Amino acid sequence: MSIPRHFTVVGGGIVGVCCALFLQRDGHTVTLIDRGEPGAGCSFGNAGIIHAGGLVPLAMPGVLRRIPAMLRDPLGPLVIRWPYLPRLAPFLWRFLLSARPARVEAVAAALAGLIERAFDSYEVLIKASGAERLIRRTGELYVFETDAGLATMQAANALRRRHGVRIETLSPGELAEMEPALAPIFRHARFFPDCISTFDPFDLTTALAAHFRTAGGTILREEVRDIRISEQGSRTLVTEAGERVFDGLVLATGAFSKPWAARLGSRVPLDTERGYHLILPDPGLTLGRPVGFGDRRFGCISLSGGLRVVGQAELASVDAPPNFSRADMLLQLVQRVLPDLDTRNARPWMGHRPSTPDSLPVICRAPKVRDVWFAFGHGHVGLTLGAVTGRLISDLVAGRNSGLDLSPFHVDRFAGFGRRPAHTPSFQSEGRTS
Ligand SMILES: Cc1cc2nc3c(=O)[nH]c(=O)nc-3n(C[C@H](O)[C@H](O)[C@H](O)COP(=O)(O)OP(=O)(O)OC[C@H]3O[C@@H](n4cnc5c(N)ncnc54)[C@H](O)[C@@H]3O)c2cc1C
Repeated sequence: MSIPRHFTVVGGGIVGVCCALFLQRDGHTVTLIDRGEPGAGCSFGNAGIIHAGGLVPLAMPGVLRRIPAMLRDPLGPLVIRWPYLPRLAPFLWRFLLSARPARVEAVAAALAGLIERAFDSYEVLIKASGAERLIRRTGELYVFETDAGLATMQAANALRRRHGVRIETLSPGELAEMEPALAPIFRHARFFPDCISTFDPFDLTTALAAHFRTAGGTILREEVRDIRISEQGSRTLVTEAGERVFDGLVLATGAFSKPWAARLGSRVPLDTERGYHLILPDPGLTLGRPVGFGDRRFGCISLSGGLRVVGQAELASVDAPPNFSRADMLLQLVQRVLPDLDTRNARPWMGHRPSTPDSLPVICRAPKVRDVWFAFGHGHVGLTLGAVTGRLISDLVAGRNSGLDLSPFHVDRFAGFGRRPAHTPSFQSEGRTS
């Protein structure tokens, strides 16, 4: 098998940038294409946590029982835009199937394998990029006001412990010492000492992208509008700037990957959980580590630009405009838990988590098209898994044994999914997709 020497990575989020860097490290010539600035998509506004405990799928039996109450609660973490429901149904059906206990165990084991390699994979890129200043060993806290709130996390924590994740129980006194800014309302606290976090996820992606460019990579700010694969074997990306023939291609367009994967012969039930944040630029207080509020399912982290409050999973189309009242709700919630917070000049943001119904990313060689690889669908843990995904894509390209069973991440697990994708851009077809 001959390996393409010139790679084009479409999508400059944390996943695409890490793919580009690992391919470059293998000696390939790499071009990264994004319609915006690298890191300005979902990777811009996340909570900045590389989760040691991020192996728990979203579809857990307990979550399913709680969904109706979450939807009824005006300050709840989950919302569905009801007109979108018919298009969401295939995703939801697969989500339900993923919550079966045997499937939950399998998904957690697969994610644990990725997370085990997540930290080392970042270390390689961060050292090479001189981005150590952007990373800190903070751990991560989860706090609960009620016994019922803690109970909702028990099954997830049992799963984490079975996979060796360290979780410490703190008393209210220890919690107050650790995070004095928190209101004294929390009965329970769990600390994950092995999580690391960044001072700013956008700065991290930007630093990695800058290193990629310095090391000889090309970054193009262009929107990809079509992918043409002719029966004769010619392969072209059509961007706003014209046509670009490609040799090897990595598709890393996050929540926008579904129509492109379909174009490349693979139907995926990819959807988006839209998440919101508020950044409070002058919060008047600092948290020593990211804190998750387990009863209300939102979180806070002190970043270089202020205090970020994150949360919400809004099931709506990728094209729907943001509903910033979801971000305003975060403001109501955070004022209760951080009473001395200065909330002036809060700025909202919305981003598209690229979500699969089984919480596993798609990391594989495209089965229907030569020299194309898929790297998308990282849901709630795309920052955590960015570097390991890049490493695995470069292993797949090189034909190296990564030492990891990659079959759980193969797109063929969705074989048989919908005959037509929900979103199909208007392609100017140049023959059958091979
Ligand atoms: C509120 C919130 C908090 C989160 N917190 C965490 C956390 O603490 N830890 C964690 O691990 N994960 C977290 N996540 C999830 C994480 O942010 C995502 O999984 C991750 O950013 C996905 O990265 P990506 O590179 O796949 O996608 P993106 O960052 O969205 O990148 C995709 C890129 O593709 C480009 N693109 C799309 N279509 C085209 C096209 N046609 N032409 C050219 N370019 C195109 C876009 O412009 C974009 O830059 C959080 C998410 C949210 C919303």
